[in-house]
Amino acid sequence: MTIGWHFKNTYSELSDTFREEIRPVPVNNPELVILNESLASELNLNFSDIDKDELSKIFSGNRLPNGSNSIAQAYAGHQFGHFTMLGDGRAVLIGEHTTKLNKKFDIQFKGSGKTAFSRNGDGRAALGPMLREYIISEAMNGLNIPTTRSLAVVKTGENIQRETTLQGAILTRVASSHIRVGTFQYIAARQKKEELKTLLDYTINRHYPEIKSSNNQALDLLNLLINRQCNLVVNWMRVGFIHGVMNTDNMTISGETIDYGPCAFMDTYDPKTVFSSIDQMGRYAYCNQPVITKWNLARFAECLVPLIDQDQDKAIKIATETINSFEKRYEEKWMNMMRDKLGLFGLDKKDKFLILDLLTWMHEKKADYTNTFCHLMDLSPKKDKLFDDNDFINWKKRWKERSSKNNDSPKKSLELMKNNNPLVIPRNYKVEEALEAAEQNDLSPLKKLLEILSKPYNEQKGITDFQSPSTSGEKYQTFCGT
Ligand code: AMP
Ligand code: MG
Repeated sequence: MTIGWHFKNTYSELSDTFREEIRPVPVNNPELVILNESLASELNLNFSDIDKDELSKIFSGNRLPNGSNSIAQAYAGHQFGHFTMLGDGRAVLIGEHTTKLNKKFDIQFKGSGKTAFSRNGDGRAALGPMLREYIISEAMNGLNIPTTRSLAVVKTGENIQRETTLQGAILTRVASSHIRVGTFQYIAARQKKEELKTLLDYTINRHYPEIKSSNNQALDLLNLLINRQCNLVVNWMRVGFIHGVMNTDNMTISGETIDYGPCAFMDTYDPKTVFSSIDQMGRYAYCNQPVITKWNLARFAECLVPLIDQDQDKAIKIATETINSFEKRYEEKWMNMMRDKLGLFGLDKKDKFLILDLLTWMHEKKADYTNTFCHLMDLSPKKDKLFDDNDFINWKKRWKERSSKNNDSPKKSLELMKNNNPLVIPRNYKVEEALEAAEQNDLSPLKKLLEILSKPYNEQKGITDFQSPSTSGEKYQTFCGT
């Protein structure tokens, strides 16, 4: 019985400029913590006949699959607004696995040791943050939001030093590619047009073959990415997800969410919510996510200028106009998303007021974002006196009036709401509980949480335990540099 790996390594075929050929640094005593069997089967991989010892070797990188050819990718990025040359400092891409449907997926080990891009880092990752990425990325997938996935986590059997001593771990990340805005920034900074064209061709071949024969591929790519990233951030806003570190190196060209560092989901509705301990200015706060998306896309547009038009002034003018279409595109998608959350069909010129008034009420009354929409669907985890509030009752009357103008049935309207409002999100304290137990070798809370989060739109037995926001009242904080 074979696992079913089918590697092609098109990125490793690019020149040295783009990547360093490197193998994962072997680890002492790898031990498999979790393997994502449903993702494995989506990828046409079968690990069922492989014993745990062998799996531990595979997912630590101690034993590389045949046909893989591992590399660390070069990239740059604006981190909190400052440009830096980066690259995979603690990750290696072991290859691109091709599925039976001929779809390509990067298989990457994160936490796999030093590379040429490690700067002062140790190249390693800790168990808690790798399991956290596993939970949140799989939750995002359950929420139908484009994301990188998590195939496995192993403990390395080695300790790593952070503020305290932690257990080392490696995450196997699966992505439709790891090409980032920062990858374009790295190549553009070298000012060699032919290298930029190589990256553009590679990206179009891999992600956007529909524009292969276009007469302005760079401009088309910019437009496509604006749409993809608009969709992505609108989806984040829909479920109250705060990425936390939207640097340009953490924005993919595929439009998938990547790099689950200090991210978290908002409980109480507050547009200024920030979880990351280092984001003092709120650059990456909930309400700032669309603004930063546009800022990052503008950095992407700058990279493409030499390929948009030979006349630089003309290219800049076109790129600027294109970037400035962001607000209109975002606003339209955001309005439609909010209409979906409220089960509204068609357009009404007062929709915006209706939506904003609800959000203002939620903000003023410190209502839970997710559970307010559960209440509107009559699927509240428990009765909450907050919703007896007169302002809310009046708002509901206006909402019902607007709903009566839907050119579809109430049943269809509820269905629309159910498909867009999750009953459950990864509540921060639930994630912490699962991680703490996993650190002590008890994986049952983690597995239960993953099971619930895999079907967040469904009514499930035992779900109420996962629906209430934390009652501790303490401000939740997440940390970078993990
Ligand atoms: P991130 O904040 O995870 O997006 O990482 C930003 C950059 O820092 C990337 O180039 C990472 O590869 C690098 N990096 C993060 N942690 C480490 C580490 N422990 N060792 C080496 N490089 C790291
Ligand atoms: Mg990153």
